[in-house]
Amino acid sequence: MRILVQKFGGTSLSSDKARNHCVEHIARELKNGFRIVVVVSAMGRKGDPYATDTLLQLIRDNGDRLPPRERDMLLGCGEIIAASALCSLLCSRGIAAIVLNGGQAGIRTDEQFGHARIKELHPDRMLSHLRDGEVVIVTGFQGSTEDGDMTTLGRGGSDTSATAIGAALRADCVDIYTDVNGILTADPRLVKDAKPLLVVGYAEICNMARQGAKVIHPRAVEIAQQARIPIRVRSTFSDDEGTLVTDRPEQAKGYVSDRHVTGIAHVSGITQISVQAIEGRSDVQLQVFQTMARNHISVDFINVTPSGAVYTVFDHDADRAVRLLQDIGYLPTAINGCAKVSVIGGGMNGVPGVMARIVEALTEQGITIMQSADSNTTIWVLVKEPDMAPALQALHAKFGLHL
Ligand code: ADP
Ligand code: ASP
Ligand code: MG
Repeated sequence: MRILVQKFGGTSLSSDKARNHCVEHIARELKNGFRIVVVVSAMGRKGDPYATDTLLQLIRDNGDRLPPRERDMLLGCGEIIAASALCSLLCSRGIAAIVLNGGQAGIRTDEQFGHARIKELHPDRMLSHLRDGEVVIVTGFQGSTEDGDMTTLGRGGSDTSATAIGAALRADCVDIYTDVNGILTADPRLVKDAKPLLVVGYAEICNMARQGAKVIHPRAVEIAQQARIPIRVRSTFSDDEGTLVTDRPEQAKGYVSDRHVTGIAHVSGITQISVQAIEGRSDVQLQVFQTMARNHISVDFINVTPSGAVYTVFDHDADRAVRLLQDIGYLPTAINGCAKVSVIGGGMNGVPGVMARIVEALTEQGITIMQSADSNTTIWVLVKEPDMAPALQALHAKFGLHL
């Protein structure tokens, strides 16, 4: 059996018209001889009736006191509605299909409701329906604990469901259908001339996803990489093949070998915190980072000097972080409304002048770099949020990514 996994995201399922596009992709691949597992997200985006954010709003309105287990039962409804709506359309077209929720599809997770990890995937039931010639529609983002409780895999987790299923079924490929033409050199909502990447390796895309390119979830890429299953990220609304993510990009058509920078990504909603050591006390770093860790505040962009520490947290953790530091005697300063912009490229390792070009691009636009850091494949800069889009555009142009 040649198996293909097709995952459709929220906007791809948001209307009857959009769902008809999904059906066209399913019908085409059935004709090409594949057995198909379809993984669906909840329909639409924030504000749409059955989107995940809309379901969350139901409980936010009364203080969000729903326990995590029950919260996952609520969140799981979005994918169940989407799967049923798509199944009804397939059946009306004479295509045999069945819906399985995460547990029924054999996805066993741990008990971390809201951000569960997949422990095992038993594909027998999916395989039996595939052998019977049915399209198997699986509700993405969901799993089930040993006790049969529904769990969710964290926001954007349908991508993870898709590659985990692809790995368990040894699928030929996992196709991630979305509202853009593949993985682009930057978010097209902010950089109008961003271009689709034709073929890239797992590591680079995983890195872009971790730095904020939300077109695919980083965990999904890791799972595909371990199983060596290719991913194609492509648009539901066209027949373009989009971006191929594979372990041997250099062997695929369209590979660009001398690229230093592959893409630019961003994350907004960040606060920069600076803490000075107190005279006579030499344990500022230990105190600060132990306090953050004990209180489950995720820290990033860490610069430590003998006289103190500068680091970032998400805006939503900032007030709590500052209070905790004050409670242990420090006088931190916090600048909120910042954004992290990342320049990513496996080919920048050992290439002189990349940082110089970043500084040049931002200085030309009058943008202040508040902090920076680098690894051999990424350079990060922290800027104020209003500077984020101009910074992305300037860096994109400086590295010729629009060409
Ligand atoms: P889906 O509902 O299909 O999972 P998402 O909203 O999760 O869709 O992801 C698609 C969105 O990701 C695009 O609309 C785009 O704005 C955004 N995005 C961010 N960075 C990139 C990038 N580098 N390439 C493509 N899209 C990106
Ligand atoms: N519906 C879930 C979310 O919005 C999962 C997904 O779309 O991947 O996060
Ligand atoms: Mg998504």
